[in-house]
Amino acid sequence: MEMQLNKISVEKTKESKLASVDFNNLPFGSIFSDHMMVCEYENGVWSAPKVIPYQKISLDPSAKIFHYGQSIFEGMKAYKDKEDKIWLFRPLDNHSRLNKSAARMAMPEIPQEYFMEGLSTLLQVDKDWIPQTEGSSLYIRPFMFASGNGFHASPADKYTFLICTAPSGPYFAGEVSVLIEETYARAANGGVGYAKAGGNYAAQFYPTKLATDKGYQQVIWTDDNTHEYIEEAGAMNIFVRIGDTLITAPTSDRILDGITRKSILQLAENEGIKTEVRKLKVSEIIEAANNSSLKEMFGAGTAAVISPISGFGYQGKDYELPKLENSFADSLKKKITAIQYNLADDPFNWRYQVK
Ligand SMILES: *Cc1c(COP(=O)(O)O)cnc(C)c1O
Repeated sequence: MEMQLNKISVEKTKESKLASVDFNNLPFGSIFSDHMMVCEYENGVWSAPKVIPYQKISLDPSAKIFHYGQSIFEGMKAYKDKEDKIWLFRPLDNHSRLNKSAARMAMPEIPQEYFMEGLSTLLQVDKDWIPQTEGSSLYIRPFMFASGNGFHASPADKYTFLICTAPSGPYFAGEVSVLIEETYARAANGGVGYAKAGGNYAAQFYPTKLATDKGYQQVIWTDDNTHEYIEEAGAMNIFVRIGDTLITAPTSDRILDGITRKSILQLAENEGIKTEVRKLKVSEIIEAANNSSLKEMFGAGTAAVISPISGFGYQGKDYELPKLENSFADSLKKKITAIQYNLADDPFNWRYQVK
């Protein structure tokens, strides 16, 4: 079945998998919707985006993605409210960050209208895949990779941009215990830590496995030079509450500029919570733990929204965080998700309705 939506061509699947999905029992990011959006770059131009059935990709063994890892991605969510309206959260920020990642990896930027119209069309075609149950959403994975061929270590001459989606339940169950990293680093000065480049995550897997072998669930990354300053929590930004002040590290070459991070900062300020964006030493956290002024630590990112930390290990010692009645993590998560799901006013104009 061929049709046009938003000027974008749509080829619908003949065999929908929708009926086989249990929407009351959704995993995170491992069931894929019926369609995907695809767009190819060749001879210096992007072809018009198309929506086609979700399917395998065919690539030559010499495609540069396999050899040199030119690959970037984004993570977003679509929410469906009680009236079946579809919402995105600050999607233009994902588009501009994708282009920042592309520039750093010597890949072509994607025009905003291709990104937004391609995504909107895909969401309309697969609107029945967007869960309506609380805490669930349609996880959206835009990504671009080098599809041009050659063993030459240089940028490819062809790229593919795809958007796939996955109806998903909540990302993490409960609180996590973390290990503050003393040896490895996820990013370096002058490097690609601020880009959502595939290789950044591959490089995290080994140190993370060492931490999970020791019984922790996640690594708190510290700066590559001294390991004295905390930077990120796994693939999330990190927040630390000391007394009644909420602290997060400043973005840099090494720290990803998270959309959840900056939204949490704005919401907290709006609530009258004192915030500080500054470098934070591990020694300051240990001191705060020892004098009981350390109240909370949590990760912030699109997938988990807010992921509370129950305790951390550092230099062979474990530290527990207190159990709070009215945590910043809980109240800020409620505030941000109420905006995302169209359950509250949107004073900052963050919501974007897909029509
Ligand atoms: C994606 C990501 C984040 C969170 O960014 P959001 O825009 O909030 O989803 C934080 N840190 C890293 C390393 C990431 O990859």
